[in-house]
Amino acid sequence: MRPPRQFTTRPETRTAQALHYVHPLHGAVVPGIEPSSTFARDENYDPMGAQVYARSGNPTLAHAEAVLADLDGAAEAMIFTSGMSATVAVMETLRAGDHVVAPRIMYHGGAVWLQRMEAVRGIEVTFYDAGVPDALAAAIRPGQTRMVWVETPTNPNWQITDIAAAADVAHSAGARLIVDATVSPACTTRALDLGADLVFQSATKYLNGHSDITGGGLSVATVDPWWEEIRDVRTLQGTAMAAFEAWLLIRGLRTLHLRFDRASASALALAAHFEGHPALRGVLYPGLANHPGHAIAARQMTGGFGGMLSILASSEGAARKIASHTQVMLPATSLGGVETLIEHRMAVEPPGSAVAPELLRISVGIEAVEDLIADLEQAIERAQ
Ligand code: PLP
Repeated sequence: MRPPRQFTTRPETRTAQALHYVHPLHGAVVPGIEPSSTFARDENYDPMGAQVYARSGNPTLAHAEAVLADLDGAAEAMIFTSGMSATVAVMETLRAGDHVVAPRIMYHGGAVWLQRMEAVRGIEVTFYDAGVPDALAAAIRPGQTRMVWVETPTNPNWQITDIAAAADVAHSAGARLIVDATVSPACTTRALDLGADLVFQSATKYLNGHSDITGGGLSVATVDPWWEEIRDVRTLQGTAMAAFEAWLLIRGLRTLHLRFDRASASALALAAHFEGHPALRGVLYPGLANHPGHAIAARQMTGGFGGMLSILASSEGAARKIASHTQVMLPATSLGGVETLIEHRMAVEPPGSAVAPELLRISVGIEAVEDLIADLEQAIERAQ
């Protein structure tokens, strides 16, 4: 056995070492994969460990959940097979007549699911404009609103919501605050410390960071019957992440801080370079001083403004041409991976989406920023 440490480590140190993992018997510094779907009991017929059957979880997943809970400063974390299965599990706890407040431009899968809940379950939803101060507060119905959903920065306009202020208005109305932190994980935004009750993240994105699994994380401030109901939904639906994916996620989490630092620095450099470009109508990035949410972002995103930015081309046609002409940036959906992606967002938005047709979303990876700038310059030039 290794002796206990004499001092408290920082979160990035614990994440990098998957909570100072060393196998107690042979000293391996990387956790193994436990693919078993069932778990034996002892001589008293009591479970030997925390698991009985893998539909409710597995030891590798428990390790990933411990790393995520530690990173978020959460009481507990739960990890699902996708971001959407985690979102659905949370929304499954709503009852007919409950009211939900959510951003008008949010991840479209979440919005579509809320609209479905309105149609088939009798849930009421008010969508607010995240770019308008007090719109969130005005949407809340004290005593009826159960959940206030915040996404910050919002996808793909990167509007910023003040989490501490949102927590105050949600709590004073008796509602829970849920923050989608997919684009700004705890290495930059400490959503639970700022007052959120639950942090949601698509682990497909920055947490894993290598575009090779789908996953969804929930991190909770307090373990209560609501949290246990979400756990029951996950067990009954069978949406706990399997061991191999959980192992990849642990591996990805270990480099989260490094990857996020690099993506933030490169995104800021790209945004600064293309701001004012004569062939573009604008650059949306919370790290730019002229972004409407910049002051809040500067206060709230303590570890960088992240790797997500959007550019507005001169027209929808020009946007599609730019995304077709890049030679380093890959024209694909998703975000938060080590490779830079460029996406004509309208191509994947549902009908009626408020997203601008000339918007291109860029997820900045970890490549040399000079190559990314040169690539976008030549694509813009060829699209003229
Ligand atoms: N929330 C945000 C902000 C996202 O970008 C995504 C996926 O793109 C999701 C939620 C859904 O996650 P997943 O695709 O892992 O189901």
